[in-house]
Amino acid sequence: MDFRSDTVTKPTEAMRKAMAEAIVGDDVYGDDPTVNDLEQWAAERHGFEAALFTTSGTQANLLGLMAHCERGDEYLCGQQAHNYKFEAGGAAVLGSIQPQPIENNPDGTIDFAKLKAAIKPDDCHFARTKLLSLENTINGKVLPLSYLAQAREFVDANALSLHLDGARVYNAAVALNIDVKEIAQYFDSMTICLSKGLAAPIGSLLLGNREFIAKARRIRKMVGGGMRQAGILAAAGKLALTEQVEQLKLDHSNAKLLANQLAELPGFSVNPEFVQTNIVFAKLDASVDIHAIAEKLQQHGITISAGNPVRFVTHKDISEQDILTFTEKLKTLL
Ligand SMILES: *Cc1c(COP(=O)(O)O)cnc(C)c1O
Repeated sequence: MDFRSDTVTKPTEAMRKAMAEAIVGDDVYGDDPTVNDLEQWAAERHGFEAALFTTSGTQANLLGLMAHCERGDEYLCGQQAHNYKFEAGGAAVLGSIQPQPIENNPDGTIDFAKLKAAIKPDDCHFARTKLLSLENTINGKVLPLSYLAQAREFVDANALSLHLDGARVYNAAVALNIDVKEIAQYFDSMTICLSKGLAAPIGSLLLGNREFIAKARRIRKMVGGGMRQAGILAAAGKLALTEQVEQLKLDHSNAKLLANQLAELPGFSVNPEFVQTNIVFAKLDASVDIHAIAEKLQQHGITISAGNPVRFVTHKDISEQDILTFTEKLKTLL
């Protein structure tokens, strides 16, 4: 059992079969029918003109930021944003794009007054503010649809574009019990991770209008992301979106179960009410030596991230029974 992330999910049998049988060509020439099918299908499915298959979510965000912003431009984002905090500063390093991070509220939103105050005047002292980048889900929390509608109004009023880091946007849609298009409709561009809870081995998508995706495609080549017979991966990627979305419901109910079980343990502080999707955070008090516990759990084939708070992520390769087995084991170790 591996609770560190939903990135550890193994491809399904159906994915392995589709990968083995995929019709492929050279995607850098635009010749891979399976990649072309995924890109065309995904664009339409999510309400965009075009899509681009990328090596990773990090690459999809980088291409998105670089396609929206030129050198010396800036993007507004949350202090907790993955594309600010966890992507090796790629937009700044490779795009010469300045991030302007702003504190996230506990629910993952960012106050519009703070965003407004951070927009730079058109003056040679300042970087040019071009883009607002949001993230949904963010740390497992779902942004309310009403907030997304307000964000759209905000960017329109301030001549900015709006990007969504939607690595786990399907978790948000499933949690709200709505079609993913209802979230996507507010954004100029969006990314989707196929290789997290949706279980593809590799790959993300970047969605946007035709011109934007053409620009991103050029940048993808520049950063070495032009893949050749990539249909082998795209075949699994399509199944991620057509076959694996249902699984997320189970992942969410398993996360609730895990939170309820952890809340009973001494030294663990968890509020199951805060668990909206597949991520559970537990704060530990000083009595819990999480590093020692993680080592012992590892001897029983259970992997967790030792930290405080501890982040647990549920996914298709962890069952309801696994969660009960894990929390029993944890109880004995405490
Ligand atoms: C995982 C993740 C990414 C990056 O995806 P990789 O495929 O790991 O590069 C981007 N944004 C968010 C919110 C993520 O959770």
